[in-house]
Amino acid sequence: MVFKNLIGGKDVPASDGMLLDVVSPVDGVLFAKIASGTAQDVDAAVKAARNAFEGAWGRLTATERGRLLMKLAAIVEAHADELTALESRDNGKPLRQSHADAVALARYFEYYGSAADKLHGDVIPYLNTHFIGVERVPHGVTGHIVPWNYPLQIFGRSVGAALAAGNATVVKPAEDASLTILRVSALAREVGFPDGAINLVTGLGRTAGAALAAHPGIDFLSFTGSPETGTAVQTAAAKNHVGVTLELGGKSAQIVFDDADIERALPSLVNAIIQNGGQTCSAGSRLLIQRGIFEDVVNAVAERFRALRAGHPEREPDLGPMINQAQQRRVLGYLDRARNEGLTVMGEGVVAIDAPAEGFYVPPVFFAPVPHQSMLSQEEVFGPVLVATPFEDEAEAIRLANGTPYGLAAGVWTRDAMRSTRVARSMRAGQVFVNCYGAGGGIELPFGGFGRSGHGREKGFEGLIEFTTTKTLVMAHG
Ligand code: NAD
Repeated sequence: MVFKNLIGGKDVPASDGMLLDVVSPVDGVLFAKIASGTAQDVDAAVKAARNAFEGAWGRLTATERGRLLMKLAAIVEAHADELTALESRDNGKPLRQSHADAVALARYFEYYGSAADKLHGDVIPYLNTHFIGVERVPHGVTGHIVPWNYPLQIFGRSVGAALAAGNATVVKPAEDASLTILRVSALAREVGFPDGAINLVTGLGRTAGAALAAHPGIDFLSFTGSPETGTAVQTAAAKNHVGVTLELGGKSAQIVFDDADIERALPSLVNAIIQNGGQTCSAGSRLLIQRGIFEDVVNAVAERFRALRAGHPEREPDLGPMINQAQQRRVLGYLDRARNEGLTVMGEGVVAIDAPAEGFYVPPVFFAPVPHQSMLSQEEVFGPVLVATPFEDEAEAIRLANGTPYGLAAGVWTRDAMRSTRVARSMRAGQVFVNCYGAGGGIELPFGGFGRSGHGREKGFEGLIEFTTTKTLVMAHG
C-alpha cells in the first residue's frame, strides 16, 4: 500500500517523490508507505484550502456544513470495523480501543455537525442610537498537527470542530499513524465535501509539520503533541501573529483518601494508566494515597498489575505494543533508571509469550513508594508505568497533586462530599474527576490544560468556539 497526500481533492505524491516506511508496531513489519510531504506540498495544501474557503466550501450555509459532517459521521460508523483493523495494524492498539476510537470519531462529527448552525453571536445593548452585534466567524484556513496516540479521536475533535465552524483545513498527521486519517479523508470526499475543505500532508514533523506551523497562509493552528514541539509550533505561529491551541502532555494524579470506596476505585486506578498502553496525555500516571491505607491500596493495585498482559492487539490484551522502537526504548530506559535509583517494583505485568518478538512491547510496571521529587513522579513517561506516593492530609495531597509543571487531569476519591468539592476545586487541572476517572474524558466536555499541559480548549462546545473569532458590528440607526 502506497498512500499520497490529499491536496485540493486530488491524491498527489510528495513534490520530490519521497516516501516514508510505515512499520507496524505489532510485529515490526513494513506494510505501507506514505508520502514524505515537503514545504512545497504544504504550500499547495494551504493554497487549496484558501480556494475552498473563498469558494465552494465557504459558500455553504452552516446547516449544509452540518449535514455534510452528519453524513461523514454515518459513513465512518459504517466503516468502523475497517478503521478498527487498520488502526490496530498501524498503531498497535488493542482492537477494542481502535473500535472505541472509530466510534468516538463518528460521534465527534455528529456532535459538531449538529452544532454547526447553533454557533450564534450576541447583541450588546450599549447605545440606544446604535445596533451592536457580535458575530462569530471562522478563522479562515486552519492548520492541524496531530500526534500518533489517538489519531482518529484527535482528528475528530480538531478537524471536525474547525469544519463545523466554517474553516478550510490543512492536516499533518503523525508520521507513525497517518493511515486511518487518510482513509477518513477519502470517506469525506465520498460524502461530498468540496475539494480543498480537508487537505492532508503526511510526513515528518521537522519538515511538513514545521512548514505548516510557519506558513503565513494559516490563520489558526491546533497542535496536539509534546511540550517541546508545542513550543516550536507556538514560536513559529507567533511570527505570523496567529493563535494556537496547544494540547500537550500530563502527569495526572489520582488522590485516594482513607474514606474512599477502594473496591470501586481500583479498576480506575489501574485502567487510567493501562488504557492505550499509557500513551494517553491524560493518563493517571500518579497515585497519591493517604498514609493509613497506603499499604493496602498499593498491595491491591500491585496484585492487579501482576495479572496484566501486553500482547498482540487481536488477542484481547490489556495493552498493545508501544507505537515504535524509540518509544519502547524510552519506556524501558525509564524502567532501568527507576530501578537504578532504588525504587521498588510492587507489581509487574508480562509481555505475552505469543507477542511477536519483533513488536515493540513493554511490561506494565507499578512502583511504590516513590518520592514526589523523583523523576518518575515528575516526568511524563508516556507508557504503562504507575507510581504511588503517600500523603498525610488534605493540604499535602493538594500540594503534591499540583506539584508538577503539568495540569491536564486529576482524580479525587473520597466519600466526603465537602472534601471532594474543596479538593476538586483546588486542582490545577483542565478536567477533575470525583469518584471516577475518564482519561481523555468525553467528547462533549471541554478538554485542555494548565501550565506545561498547554492552553486553549478542544472538545465540547468550547472546542467549537476556539475555531471561530468574533467580529463586532456597530451600526448607527440613522
Ligand atoms: P510530537 O510532538 O513528537 O509530535 C506531534 C506532532 O507534531 C506529529 O504530527 C509530529 O510529526 C509533529 N511535529 C514534530 N516536530 C515538529 C515540528 N518541529 N514542527 C511542527 N510539527 C512537528 O508528539 P508525539 O510523540 O506524537 O505525542 C506524544 C505527546 O503528545 C505526549 O507528550 C502526549 O502527552 C501529547 N498528547 C497530548 C494530548 C492532549 O490532548 N493534551 C493528546 C495526545 C497526545
